Amino acid sequence: MPTAVRPTAHADDQWILTRAGKILILDALDGQRMLTAEEAESLATHFGERHVLGYLEGVTGHWWTAELAAEFDEFEVDLPGLIFTDLRSTMATLDPITWNIAGRATQIADWYRDNQNCGRCGGVMELSETERTMSCAADGFTTYPRLSPAVIVLIEHPDGRALLARNIAWPMPMYSTLAGFVEPGESLEDCIHREVAEEVGVVVTDVRYFASQPWPFPNSLMLGFFALWQSGKIVPEAEEIADAQWFSRDELPMIPPHGSIARALIDDWLSRRSA
Ligand SMILES: [Zn+2]
Repeated sequence: MPTAVRPTAHADDQWILTRAGKILILDALDGQRMLTAEEAESLATHFGERHVLGYLEGVTGHWWTAELAAEFDEFEVDLPGLIFTDLRSTMATLDPITWNIAGRATQIADWYRDNQNCGRCGGVMELSETERTMSCAADGFTTYPRLSPAVIVLIEHPDGRALLARNIAWPMPMYSTLAGFVEPGESLEDCIHREVAEEVGVVVTDVRYFASQPWPFPNSLMLGFFALWQSGKIVPEAEEIADAQWFSRDELPMIPPHGSIARALIDDWLSRRSA
């Protein structure tokens, strides 16, 4: 999605309106949808800073976002059906492209709201007109929207089984691939070896990149990999992993829903049954 930092307003513009990390949608008789440009503009007196998000190839007009004021009351405006909803609950209802743009919107809004003052001197930060930065007029300190890369890895056994684990915090008996945040100074490969050793105590080799997915909860980028088991028995980390096992393709537990990169990794492994 290319971005132009300050395009002019256009009749075909589209809006993602947010408030405190949630997005505003319209719950109409025919289902949930984003607001039209006209509906969004009717709320413009409640907008904070407007940020352009970019445009889609072949579409006239840009996607924009603005955060609504904290005191904005969706029940007091002349637009019935407005509801604030979180990104997670719209993952299945919005189309993937719109959902991704909404994730970009909440992250830009969070970044802008949380960086009004300089982290170094406390001075007022100003939004750049030409790039996605905020800078302090007093000392030049500059911030960029923050991304937290995380690796997610499906470990395959030479006998064809996959290692899946159940996180202690999950309310349902679901098993998934292992994941963890990249530490400063680590390569993605370093991170995979460390996370796998910490969480299940095994050693892996043959790390292969699969795909990535923006994961705006709140600002992650998931980088998906396959790896091959090399040595070690599974020893779940007691504080994080409730259980971890080798599963064959015929004896799968509950796995994550479609749409997540964890599921895409598992589906890819499943598709190689005949290989
Ligand atoms: Zn400063």
